[in-house]
Amino acid sequence: MTKLLIIGGVAGGASAAARARRLDEFAEIIIFERGAHISFANCGLPYHIGGTIEKRDNLVLQTPESFHNRFNVDVRILSEVIAIDAGNKTVKIRNLKEDREYTEAYDYLIISTGAAPVRPNISGINNPLTYSLRNLGDMDKIMSVIDTNRPNHATVVGGGYIGLEMVEALHGRGINVTLIEQASHVMRTLDEEMSEIVHREIRDMDVDLQLNTALQSIRFVASEAAVSQDDSEDQDKDNRYGYLELATNINRKLRTGLLIIAVGVRPETNLAQSTGLEIGALGGIIVDSQMRTSDPSIFAVGDAVEVKNFTSGKSALIPLAGPATRQGRIAASVIFGEQDEYYKSQGTAICKVFGLSVASTGMSEVALQNEGLEYEKVYIHAASHASYYPDAETVSLKVLFAPDSGAILGAQAIGRDGVDKRIDVLAVAQRAGMTVEDLQNLELCYAPPYSSVRDIINQVGFIATNILKGSHRPIHYHQLQQLTDGHVLLDVRTPEEIQSQGTIPGAINIPIDVLRSKVSELPKDKEIIVFCQVGLRGYVASRLLNNRGYSARNLIGGYLTWTNAQQRNHDTILQ
Ligand code: FAD
Repeated sequence: MTKLLIIGGVAGGASAAARARRLDEFAEIIIFERGAHISFANCGLPYHIGGTIEKRDNLVLQTPESFHNRFNVDVRILSEVIAIDAGNKTVKIRNLKEDREYTEAYDYLIISTGAAPVRPNISGINNPLTYSLRNLGDMDKIMSVIDTNRPNHATVVGGGYIGLEMVEALHGRGINVTLIEQASHVMRTLDEEMSEIVHREIRDMDVDLQLNTALQSIRFVASEAAVSQDDSEDQDKDNRYGYLELATNINRKLRTGLLIIAVGVRPETNLAQSTGLEIGALGGIIVDSQMRTSDPSIFAVGDAVEVKNFTSGKSALIPLAGPATRQGRIAASVIFGEQDEYYKSQGTAICKVFGLSVASTGMSEVALQNEGLEYEKVYIHAASHASYYPDAETVSLKVLFAPDSGAILGAQAIGRDGVDKRIDVLAVAQRAGMTVEDLQNLELCYAPPYSSVRDIINQVGFIATNILKGSHRPIHYHQLQQLTDGHVLLDVRTPEEIQSQGTIPGAINIPIDVLRSKVSELPKDKEIIVFCQVGLRGYVASRLLNNRGYSARNLIGGYLTWTNAQQRNHDTILQ
């Protein structure tokens, strides 16, 4: 009878245990979980804090008892594995409830210890009003501060997806929120010009967004001192049980009643390290494609391991729930004799930021640049479904592809509707090895409430294929800086649009519908750079001009993409 021990009982560990039992009815399977819960929904924690998920119990997907009843797995909570003796194939466990230690032997061991929130080395960080969010215990503590102290203001440090979800959760509780982000934009899976759409949404919700800002020190002021220092009504609320004074690199002192640190996670590898398992340069456990570590009896899965990036083929840390559960399943399958392999991570992810959905897959433009990989890109801002049917919303989509083969390298989408569907289709297309040319022919479901006759994905395929074939000559927003006297910048939108939206400095205006009759006004010895609002009319105009012997290029993503990028630059200069 095989004896399988699993360290960590949440995403990867619980999936591995369930799969193991389905494959072997008689194996002895024990899960050791340091915390008080197994199989809880970490991804749902911010939504309970914000009140969307009302019942705390709904976050606990399985209890040790229910898991045992369903899968006959011995689940030991409050049990921390403190050492692995790989030579003798035993682990040492500390029972945290009874404060005693014991050992347990294994045939196979799966490590699914996850990743711990990074706690930056900032003076004053250890205080009763500063928390990170990883598990139900953290959530309870944060909610307790909110319920007892009723802070008027909270600060979140870190604009990744956990930070953004916490911003929304705290905002949902009626708390004024400041979001401090060290980088020039939130969500590093997005490129800057795309992130501007997210910044607008955050600021429109009256969140104080501070970019290019680093938290430098924290001072906890206890309640008595606080009350005597300040008696203004609003601040008095924060003062009742004390408050924090935050200092940042831009010297702005910020007074806040609750501080959430969400600056990223790092793999929990202490155990693996002290066992002598191979650890990668990024700090994760090294595993082969079957999730086997450098010790053939020990497997590792989830946030604790390094995976291969699907696009670059290089090692990466991609801490997401889907990969963790799939890897847990694969490790169990392999242990119980099935051939299975984990085939790299694309990092497909989505985050709700107030009314927006923000999703991505594959690599960003910046990541491609950092890897020195060649790419071309298209932007599209199109209606989520037929624009004549009510409630269509703009989906802003950026797709990166290889300029030679047309292989899909990455995609980012933002909007209020239809974002997940587009990124999921592109994630499947990338994994299936499809090219942008193939996107033209995808037969996707259509009726006016859901999509357009030519879905956004098909449209991306058309634009990218035209670029690859040379019939669509593109120019990108950042290349406009290089225009000279040898160029004419031509806005083909209507005067009304220009009046309400503005235009790019130096542009002349000939609306697309009168371009044929006025074409002779344009010089043939200069290159015409055409643009419209989102790129479609610009493309039509550039074809018209090219077919009449002009040299014309179209601004991809149009004035909208240019404006987003300009706003981004403007923000950066201001800060
Ligand atoms: P975990 O689920 O973290 O489980 C590891 C467990 O191991 C922990 O419970 C820990 O207590 C236990 N452990 C560690 N060391 C020991 C030891 N020595 N002995 C015993 N037990 C030990 N991902 C998404 O894809 N989408 C989302 O929307 C999303 N939202 C998230 C929101 C939040 C607030 C958080 C914290 C995470 C979110 N994630 C999301 C990430 C996702 O939860 C993780 O990628 C996933 O849980 C990783 O699974 P894991 O098994 O590797 O680690």
